[in-house]
Amino acid sequence: MPTPTNEGSTVECVRCHRTAAAARGVSWGGELGAEIRAKICNDCWTEWQAAEVMVINELRLNFMDPEAQSTLIGQMREFFELGDGQVVSRIKERAERPVGDVMQPIKVTLQHDDHLMKIIYEMVENNLSMIPVLQDGSVVGVIRSVDVLDEVSKLVL
Ligand SMILES: [Zn+2]
Repeated sequence: MPTPTNEGSTVECVRCHRTAAAARGVSWGGELGAEIRAKICNDCWTEWQAAEVMVINELRLNFMDPEAQSTLIGQMREFFELGDGQVVSRIKERAERPVGDVMQPIKVTLQHDDHLMKIIYEMVENNLSMIPVLQDGSVVGVIRSVDVLDEVSKLVL
């Protein structure tokens, strides 16, 4: 039976929560490989491939040692938030914290008629990826960096 390549299929990525192209070129076999192909987008997979090199170096993983592979798999599961028992219980613990403990204070707001350049300036200047948008003093929405990128790409293309 040919190996499924995942060419053209999309997933709801558990890591970045986008619906995007599924991971391609996953070298892990078996259930692990299938889980990655079913749950991880190609962008996150590409990110992991870069992180993997660092993990291997950082932890001095030696693949002559059978422990090394399970350590790497553990790191990868954590990276993808796929969860083993330990991670899941930690997430549960954190999930019970009140929102007020976790939220970021609003540093910057935009008016609903602000121009794109101002939005880009505020995002870069304050290192923000999301800014609340106000109209008549109330929050009417948020603008995300991906929305800005979308708009900019429409102008350029
Ligand atoms: Zn993703």
